[in-house]
Amino acid sequence: MREPRVLDKIIEVKNVTKVFDDTTVIDELNLSIRRGQFITLLGPSGCGKTTLLRMIAGFVAPTSGNIYIEGQDVTTIPPYKRPVNTVFQKYALFPHLNVFKNVAFGLKLKKVPCGEKLNSKGEKVEQFRKFTKEEIEQKVNRALRLVGLEDYGHRDVNSLSGGQQQRVAIARAIVCEPKVLLLDEPLGALDLKMRKEMQIELTKMHRELGITFIYVTHDQEEALTMSNVVVVLNDGLIQQIGTPKQVYDEPANAFVADFIGESNIISGTMIKDFSVKFLDTVFVCEDKGFAKNERVDLVIRPEDIDVFPENSEQGQLTGTVLSAVFKGTYYEMEIEANGYEFTVQSTTEARPGQKVKLLIKPNGIHIMKKLRTVNEFVGEVSGENTVDFCGGSFEIPTTLEKGTPVKVYVPFDAVELTDDEEDGEIGANVTHVLYKGSYYQVQIYTDTDEDFYIDTTDEWDIDDRVGVKINKSKIRLEVIAHEEESDEN
Ligand code: ATP
Repeated sequence: MREPRVLDKIIEVKNVTKVFDDTTVIDELNLSIRRGQFITLLGPSGCGKTTLLRMIAGFVAPTSGNIYIEGQDVTTIPPYKRPVNTVFQKYALFPHLNVFKNVAFGLKLKKVPCGEKLNSKGEKVEQFRKFTKEEIEQKVNRALRLVGLEDYGHRDVNSLSGGQQQRVAIARAIVCEPKVLLLDEPLGALDLKMRKEMQIELTKMHRELGITFIYVTHDQEEALTMSNVVVVLNDGLIQQIGTPKQVYDEPANAFVADFIGESNIISGTMIKDFSVKFLDTVFVCEDKGFAKNERVDLVIRPEDIDVFPENSEQGQLTGTVLSAVFKGTYYEMEIEANGYEFTVQSTTEARPGQKVKLLIKPNGIHIMKKLRTVNEFVGEVSGENTVDFCGGSFEIPTTLEKGTPVKVYVPFDAVELTDDEEDGEIGANVTHVLYKGSYYQVQIYTDTDEDFYIDTTDEWDIDDRVGVKINKSKIRLEVIAHEEESDEN
């Protein structure tokens, strides 16, 4: 029996890279999208989601790699020849045309095949015609009905609210019956109430139209409530693809856990299958297949921690309540236990200063591979006890000869950030901050285009300009074998 059409692949992105001004924005990305899906590209500002959408639309050409729509390589095909249409955040309606004419605009220009004719050489040539007035009226009215504006055709677009104008923009995009509708943060300009209403409307529209929606957003709640599939992106790389439930319940790494929903992210060690140690305590978990004593990150959602009185038999940790706020149906509390500040959501009331027991059940602990455990760079010994890497020369004790290519390992706790850029050896910008309960893991992007991870108790904000100081005594060098060196070149 044939598979239902909903399972067909409609779009394939194969090994696509996009470089802007020497910066890799999308990195060897592969993605298959099935027909009829509502898929969301989710990630922080600047992660490359709009660039990916614009490459699918045809507005931006990949630096390398290919894009296929329905099996056809469309990489070099212009946007208007692709069976897709885009709705942008800024709706850009024609101010001098009424609602009906705005929606009809594209249809009036569109030509549809109407059979074949023999030319003077006796060859078959495909013929095209424009839509009739009746056809246009019928299609525009259907599109307006789908966006809930059936009685608005005669209205001046300037007299509409932001939400209504965005509905007109959506009607204009769907009236030409694209196979894929691309939506680039279409609700970003609307207020919260209107955005919520439009989210519901868009999911309804998706069901009624039955076409594929690819939706770009940085709002995780929007992604989780609207789509069948969420693609989480960071730094031009896919971090996880899954259903909303999968990315929430089983985040692939600490980045996804932090980005999707509220979470407690803690470093730990897998003692053996189904046993993880963190905060000096061994817990039973549901994960296996890690190396013995492998360092891992783990996530515990605030609602997965149960609170009991201090004298209870239950619970593995004893903590002190730091703050408690009633949120209508539960208490949100900050509870300190073994040096870690947990965020807890519980129906059990506890007051600041109170000692409590915390119970974390095996299914509340989600183990993730550590993204990176040490900063790793390629450098070269440039003189006596001097190594060049990350665009700087650093004094590092070594007996290696000048010119030796080396891997330079800089632990996360060997780096210090300073407010005053002049105080540092390298200049950089803060790009990501992940709170890990007792410290922050800060990601910076140096002026020489390198990513650094730093563990620090200092608080930094994204886009802060910083100086970077490295504790050289903690650096480890490893000679790069010749084959490896030539592999990298
Ligand atoms: P946002 O939510 O802020 O729009 P995004 O994830 O959609 O972020 P992109 O718009 O894809 O991110 O941009 C990714 C990176 O590529 C950014 O650093 C951006 O400045 C850069 N970029 C995008 N378009 C261009 C361009 N035409 N020329 C140079 N750099 C660009």
